[in-house]
Amino acid sequence: MFAEGMGVDTDGAGEAMDGERADEGDGERLARRDRAVRAAVEQGLIGPGEPVVGLLDVAGVRESAAALRAAFEAVVAPGTPVLHAFAVKATPLVAVVRLLCEEGLGAEVASPGELALARAAGVPVDRTVLDSPAKTPAELREALALGIAVNADNPQELARVDALIRRAPSASPLGVRVNPQVGGGSIEALSTATATSKFGVALRDEGAREWVVRAYLERPWLTRLHAHTGSQGIPLPLMAQGVAETYALAEEINARAGRRQVDTLDIGGGLPVNFASEATRPSYGAYARLLRETVPGLFDGRYGLVTEFGRSLLAKHGTVVARVEYAKSAGGRAVAVTHAGVQVATRTVYVPGAWPLRIAAYDATGRPKRGPVVVQDVAGPACFAGDLLATGRALPLLEQGDFVAALDTGAYYFAHHYTYNSLARPGVYGFAPDRAGGVSFAVVRRAQSPEEIVAESGGAHADALTSAAFGGG
Ligand SMILES: *Cc1c(COP(=O)(O)O)cnc(C)c1O
Repeated sequence: MFAEGMGVDTDGAGEAMDGERADEGDGERLARRDRAVRAAVEQGLIGPGEPVVGLLDVAGVRESAAALRAAFEAVVAPGTPVLHAFAVKATPLVAVVRLLCEEGLGAEVASPGELALARAAGVPVDRTVLDSPAKTPAELREALALGIAVNADNPQELARVDALIRRAPSASPLGVRVNPQVGGGSIEALSTATATSKFGVALRDEGAREWVVRAYLERPWLTRLHAHTGSQGIPLPLMAQGVAETYALAEEINARAGRRQVDTLDIGGGLPVNFASEATRPSYGAYARLLRETVPGLFDGRYGLVTEFGRSLLAKHGTVVARVEYAKSAGGRAVAVTHAGVQVATRTVYVPGAWPLRIAAYDATGRPKRGPVVVQDVAGPACFAGDLLATGRALPLLEQGDFVAALDTGAYYFAHHYTYNSLARPGVYGFAPDRAGGVSFAVVRRAQSPEEIVAESGGAHADALTSAAFGGG
């Protein structure tokens, strides 16, 4: 056990959900983070010229990948093929995908951009899975030509796959995504297994299950079955139930086919992350053990496994650090105006109740800030009143030139830019200890320049609306 870092505000939400507390590894991660923030300040990575950055703990990412592999190795029958396909949308950065690939993971992609990114990272095609509810014919054709695994979302998409493989046989493992409709969690927008979810074939709808079984019996090349029922806010037993129902469907298909037609279950990702404290929980080990208890047949060696974790692999290893540009007071409330707001923490700013972030305070030298706590707001740089990273937080009083860190932002935050006010995408830097006992940084993505913002905003088409053809001069 260890003490929470000074200035780290924990509101206790969801504390001790499954009895797992912060352990030694979590304490080491906190210490690494504090060292990295200080080094980033000392090395000028963050400062007046670059007032907001994303920092990525490379050792932490490797640890999470290793924990994921070990958790499933401990529960599957020896020799079971297991592919852990990282859900690229969680942190769409080429070097991150390559790091995970080196750790033995693959990639789950859901758009042409994510596929291109996985290929740029060097993820082999046989470790790549394409999901998405809106694949175009061109996307499907490319994936089938490459031999990438594809999960069809719905009957119309399956008909497109039919037509494509009639024209050109494909090496792609193919499956159908189902929605076991086991119910949602505490965050409606992230609940994939509700009765009316847009994803997959809704299994409990009238006739749907029979349609799926027949679809497989008529297509001997459908060998996988896919469901992704979890996400932030979904309790583990509900996730396990979604996997159990998918497994039961695979068993039914195979029984009716009289052979092991479905040979691989893709159980999706969705392990929730603890945003309330430093503790890494639930752990992959706890989830894997719960799955084996709930669905023992899935682990007896008859099925290969694909997983698609995103948030749980990266969240705890990313930190958004921002400079306090001004410290002011309004209506008796202290307000720190920083450079981290809606452009990096979009969900938190728009839906603060569902996505609260821990905030750590650092002084102008990058050391954890000490001193009596004061209830204050941490604001972002955008020009709307609601651009607040945190409201009413008890933190040591933030002053001009201090730094704030938004913790647990390695997934769905620092790489998910929102272009409000044409704010620049921040640079992202990986950090690792160097041989001299310091911290070294590597550029994962450079900060966006004003020139790049102009180019992305149609700079090449400045005359488009004022040309003679449009009645202009
Ligand atoms: C988003 C997504 C994932 C990853 O979910 P996490 O909550 O980040 O683990 C996996 N599979 C599919 C199909 C997804 O859409």
